[in-house]
Amino acid sequence: MATSNNSKRYDVIVVGAGHAGCEAALASARLGGETLLLTLNLDNVALMPCNPSIGGPAKGNLVREIDALGGQMARNIDETFIQIRMLNTGKGPAVQALRAQADKKLYQMAMKQALERQERLDVKQGLVEKILVTGVRGAPAPLVPPGVRGASAPLVSEAGPRARVQGVVTAIGMAYYARTVVVTTGTFLNGRIITGESIQPAGRAGEFPAVALSHSLREVGLALGRLKTGTPPRIDARTVDFSKTILQPGSAVPLRFSFGPDCGLMPHPEPNPIYPNPSPTDWRAQLPCYLVATNWRTHEIIRQNLHRAPLYTGVIQGVGPRYCPSIESKIVVFPDKPSHQLFLEPEGWATNEVYVQGANTSLPEDVQLAMLTRWRTTTCRPAS
Ligand SMILES: Cc1cc2nc3c(=O)[nH]c(=O)nc-3n(C[C@H](O)[C@H](O)[C@H](O)COP(=O)(O)OP(=O)(O)OC[C@H]3O[C@@H](n4cnc5c(N)ncnc54)[C@H](O)[C@@H]3O)c2cc1C
Repeated sequence: MATSNNSKRYDVIVVGAGHAGCEAALASARLGGETLLLTLNLDNVALMPCNPSIGGPAKGNLVREIDALGGQMARNIDETFIQIRMLNTGKGPAVQALRAQADKKLYQMAMKQALERQERLDVKQGLVEKILVTGVRGAPAPLVPPGVRGASAPLVSEAGPRARVQGVVTAIGMAYYARTVVVTTGTFLNGRIITGESIQPAGRAGEFPAVALSHSLREVGLALGRLKTGTPPRIDARTVDFSKTILQPGSAVPLRFSFGPDCGLMPHPEPNPIYPNPSPTDWRAQLPCYLVATNWRTHEIIRQNLHRAPLYTGVIQGVGPRYCPSIESKIVVFPDKPSHQLFLEPEGWATNEVYVQGANTSLPEDVQLAMLTRWRTTTCRPAS
């Protein structure tokens, strides 16, 4: 039984304060709509669950388009990056792409501040379990308190043109009402994490999946599919021999994503001294990234363990992003290539945590460890 939050009716409810949800909620409020942003955990607003970076080929243009439309992402990364670069400068302008490496925690903090300071926007913590809809044949009529206007956005679904969204109900039974509900739940709908032989229900590492909401969306006639994504291991900077890496410094010339006024850099901790050669760029402090490469030993370990890679055993069947292949796929698809580039990317100014870009994998933890210890003996090749 849902309890009504009668104090307020919203124009728009956004479910999920990830990257899409933050932009949707800000856009709605900035356009004058009374807006509610409901999310599972307020400490995880705008969390970057994979690489803490913004832009690059394919997404760099999108970020700038969002900025041109009054969005937040570009401003947010300009305030919180540890490094920015224009990629592919040796090639033509059509393939050059701006890419920034974020301080993961500062990025979240800056986005949370933007949400909290936005007029007409309420931000609440809550796990949404049910979408309230009227006009679906066979569906129970939702509880709508007196005074809620009936005019609401039509749902595009098999439920038909008479279906109307009314609001949402959270796991603890609170109902919130709005004429429009925007669902931006990322990887959470019936989510699973698969690492080698281990399969766990989860939205992201350490977070619940949204199982009940998946059922509710099906009940109102919306079709659900399954996508997959992957992530590489993170390593401790204290275990890296940086003398064997090639430095990837930040841009020597000022670069920004946003077309708006320069908000400057958010106050940040002192750079972690474990990272050698913090870039001495005049215009802004930056941290470098570090290039390494796999070698034949790494490839051998991967080949010997393909029977434990769920991507190859058929356990993972979802469609994934085209541009982000796993390390095991690269070794299978390009058997003659003697090595593949990997970038070691600090996850922030102060942390020892380092993201190994290029090493996405479905392999189990013991195999990942074996791969990583082999990289220590790798001789690097210069970036092409
Ligand atoms: C480990 C990992 C690696 C990834 N790698 C890549 C990659 O390489 N390339 C790529 O493009 N994408 C990748 N992704 C997908 C990544 O999720 C998206 O790129 C991006 O984060 C999507 O943004 P979003 O706003 O749609 O969702 P998210 O950023 O995931 O945000 C979803 C939000 O919804 C909230 N939420 C979910 N369910 C509910 C509910 N029922 N009630 C209330 N709140 C809810 C969550 O708490 C979260 O705040 C990866 C994801 C993970 C977990």
